[in-house]
Amino acid sequence: MYAVAIDGPAGAGKSTISREAAKRIGFLYVDTGALYRAVAYDMLENKIDPADAQAVCRRLQGLEISFGYSGGEQQVYRNGENITGRIRTPEVSSAASAVSALTVVRQFLFDQQQAIARENNVIMDGRDIGTTVLPHAQVKIYLTAAVEERARRRFIELQQKGEGASLDEVLKEVQKRDENDMNRAVSPLRRAEDAVLVDTTHLDFQQSVSAVLAVIQEKIGAGIK
Ligand code: C5P
Repeated sequence: MYAVAIDGPAGAGKSTISREAAKRIGFLYVDTGALYRAVAYDMLENKIDPADAQAVCRRLQGLEISFGYSGGEQQVYRNGENITGRIRTPEVSSAASAVSALTVVRQFLFDQQQAIARENNVIMDGRDIGTTVLPHAQVKIYLTAAVEERARRRFIELQQKGEGASLDEVLKEVQKRDENDMNRAVSPLRRAEDAVLVDTTHLDFQQSVSAVLAVIQEKIGAGIK
């Protein structure tokens, strides 16, 4: 099996770029952020402070997060219920960043991420895929862009969904998430030593996809159909 690990900060375009790259080479796309978001969504719904390790830990006992595919799109389930359409709000983003700092949550989601890569050729995106989840991935990419550009992209995405945050608010949210993700004690976001850096600040979507595919081609060209 082949594994492509794509890590990087919020808003670098990881998910859209990874999804398209996976489609082009016939690999399964795995969005690990959706799992952290699903845990966060559940905590918010149950009025649990996502930073309260003990309360989160108690709640995890009764929680099952799983994922599957429908029409080629990843779906995420909370105790069997499909919650895919509810995990992309700014509140869930912030709460996901908080719960993901807890060791107990990272352990809770770890096995499923490894299991799917054992059975499929995957492009998996997240924060710690190349460093922790799939340290033996044949391809590792650290995908990033300048923070202002990442905020601008997220802002446009939210506007298209009719969500009314200002650009300044989105920039602050992205900066806060960078800070949380890069400075937490467990599995902080960092570039794996053997990861290839792809900076998309000045690349459009197609150019970014091509840049990612070029790295994959170079590392495992023969494995791509
Ligand atoms: O990628 P996405 O923005 O959906 O991820 C939501 C949050 O989940 C991130 O801010 C990060 O804190 C956390 N996350 C993580 N490790 C991953 C994927 C996501 O800590 N592998």
